[in-house]
Amino acid sequence: MRFTLRQRHEAMVDKSGGPDACWPWTGSQVGKDKHGVGYGQLMGPDHKPLAAHRLAYQFEHGRIPKGAMVLHRCGNRACCNPAHLYTGDNAQNMRDKSRHGRAAKRLTPQAVALIRAEWQVAVEQGRKHGTVARLVRQYGVNRKTVQDIIDGLSWRHLEPVDNPPQLNVDAVRAIREQYAAGATAKTLAAAYGVTPQCIYDITARRTWTRVR
Ligand SMILES: [Zn+2]
Repeated sequence: MRFTLRQRHEAMVDKSGGPDACWPWTGSQVGKDKHGVGYGQLMGPDHKPLAAHRLAYQFEHGRIPKGAMVLHRCGNRACCNPAHLYTGDNAQNMRDKSRHGRAAKRLTPQAVALIRAEWQVAVEQGRKHGTVARLVRQYGVNRKTVQDIIDGLSWRHLEPVDNPPQLNVDAVRAIREQYAAGATAKTLAAAYGVTPQCIYDITARRTWTRVR
């Protein structure tokens, strides 16, 4: 059985994030940016490499105007969601690149709260695996940025759920040691000025998961 170019393209696009999310190309990528994300590529019928995002645009909107570039609204080079793509000229491409460069470092407080909430839900539902990678794609920031937000190492003024600001890495380690040595959650909660639930979450490693 032979597959059409469109079918082969379709098979390599990850649409699991839903209609509004970025749809990253899962095949080979070229022209990687500093986050290691590049433009998707697949082999055309004449064995010439084709740009995956350009095909995504064509399949949805038809022809690309002669000489036009297909650009990413989301700044995610691997993205093949036609809703995130538009055509423009090179000058526009340069303007967008610098805008995305700045935007990548800037998350809104709402986005930070959402990242934490999504992580919390993933933890509660026992599906942490792959969640950070998904958040990285969804919010167009790098892995460390997401991890630091989840761990409460950045955006400290926005309180992470059940990670009161008075707790730090040392306190978390001490709580785990003292709990293992027989201290009750109630005692520790009083000692550290947090709720017993917070202590349970720490000792069960539902929070502060990266602290050993
Ligand atoms: Zn996108």
